[in-house]
Amino acid sequence: MALIVQKFGGSSVSDAASIKRVAKRIVEARQAGNDVVVAVSAMGDTTDDLLELAADVAPEPAPRELDMLLSSGERISMALLAMAIHAMGYEARSFTGSQAGMITTADHGSARILDVTPVRLREALDDGAVVIVAGFQGFNRDTRDITTLGRGGSDTTAVALAAALGADVCEIYSDVDGIFTCDPRVVPMAKKLNVIGAEEMLELAANGAKVLYIRAVEYARRHNVLIHARSTFTPNEGTYVLGDGMPDPRLAKGEAMSDVIGKEEPVVAGVAIDRSQAKITVVGVPDVPGSAAAIFSRVAALGANIDMIVQNVQSASPGHTDISFTLPKDEAEAVAKQLKADHDELGFDNIYFDDEIGKLSVVGAGMRSHSGVSLTLFEALSSNGINVEMISTSEIRISVVLRDAYLDAAARAVHTAYGLDGDVEATVYAGTGR
Ligand code: ASP
Ligand code: MG
Repeated sequence: MALIVQKFGGSSVSDAASIKRVAKRIVEARQAGNDVVVAVSAMGDTTDDLLELAADVAPEPAPRELDMLLSSGERISMALLAMAIHAMGYEARSFTGSQAGMITTADHGSARILDVTPVRLREALDDGAVVIVAGFQGFNRDTRDITTLGRGGSDTTAVALAAALGADVCEIYSDVDGIFTCDPRVVPMAKKLNVIGAEEMLELAANGAKVLYIRAVEYARRHNVLIHARSTFTPNEGTYVLGDGMPDPRLAKGEAMSDVIGKEEPVVAGVAIDRSQAKITVVGVPDVPGSAAAIFSRVAALGANIDMIVQNVQSASPGHTDISFTLPKDEAEAVAKQLKADHDELGFDNIYFDDEIGKLSVVGAGMRSHSGVSLTLFEALSSNGINVEMISTSEIRISVVLRDAYLDAAARAVHTAYGLDGDVEATVYAGTGR
């Protein structure tokens, strides 16, 4: 008998009809002889609605109370889902995060899972029940308070449950078919991937792909959990996210070997785009030791997350240089303001703020052993007349910053240039991937 963890996102449980559809899906897995543990998100846009309500009653809601409020969203969906399963004649039991033994740090709104003690879940499984767990929430032992894991945290709940229970697979259901070579709403010829390495998935997620949350993939990679990202609306297999050295699960299912192996691994697995960043350029910084430290200590003090940094060799004025960096749009204005306020100490000439940038990244583990990968990218961009403003690389990724207005066209051109285009246009549901 296999143990399967299934996670259903908010879009899969947005109303009574969809809750019943999900219940049916869960019961099918149970009927097939599996033990089933489910992590569920709040219905539809519940979390956003609750956040709005909180903002309406208080300008800065207390973090503890905000977590009490937000965690209630998942309590609603977990109980309704258990009821729907009962109505189909099956045993199901719902548990809050703390009942499920999700032990977290005390950070309200962004708690991290420290330990999972699923004693009650095991008991329920032993009794033959389907286990339903409220996603996105946990409990801190010191403060004895309820915590939440940050937006999209139900993915992490599911993976943590799968790790703690030694599940065979963690199925993450949403309203899209799996992981695509690029967002099909932007690149219609994008293809669904059958498998992707966790390392590649992490780079794609960190650079704008929204189907799976980074922290969930990191957790899965660390604890060797097999993720299967798939759609609630079709029975089709989605995309398996394989940890290091994990075998392709389709081999075990007896799928034709030639379908699974024998094809050369592509150098590039996918293309990600990201519009969430802004660029700050500090012009005419004294080209002496300590200048960059002085700037970035201000940035760090504000808790802003820098992505790319570029320093020119020298700017127009001798003895000076320009430093550009990118960071999330919603953190950028505060940083620019702070740097301007400290103008006299920092001694720069000028500061520019630009929120009309977009980032395009190509990701692939095959880059390690292939040369000329970046040339393909730069040629595709230049033949479409698209200018590159910043570049950064990792071992398995190349990212460029472009004008926002050209980002979609750039993604299509680059997707084609790396031979990623499928034979047919991808079916695009109005999916959110949640
Ligand atoms: N309900 C939470 C959110 O919307 C958690 C989740 O959906 O995973 O962020
Ligand atoms: Mg949600």
